[in-house]
Amino acid sequence: MRDYISRETALKIIYTSTAPALEVKAMPAADVVEVATTSWEDIERIGFGSWEATCKHCKRRMMYMAWWKYCPECGAKVEETRKKQYEI
Ligand SMILES: [Zn+2]
Repeated sequence: MRDYISRETALKIIYTSTAPALEVKAMPAADVVEVATTSWEDIERIGFGSWEATCKHCKRRMMYMAWWKYCPECGAKVEETRKKQYEI
C-alpha cells in the first residue's frame, strides 16, 4: 500500500533536519484514496436525444450523458471521451 505525505513538509525536513530519512519515515501518512479514471467508449445513439456508452473502467454499458464527470456505476472519474462522428 502506498503512503501519501506532504511534499512541502518533506522538503522542509530534508533541508533542515540532521536525520531527514528518519523524520520523513516518521511522518504520518494522509488518509487518501486513489481516484480511478475512465473514459466513455462506443458511444451510440439509441433514439431521439438518447445515447448509450460503455465505461472503459467497469465495462458496463449504460445510458450516456455527456456532462457526467463520474461513471454512475463504478464512480470512476471521466478524464476523456473518445470523439466519434455522429449523423443526426
Ligand atoms: Zn464505470
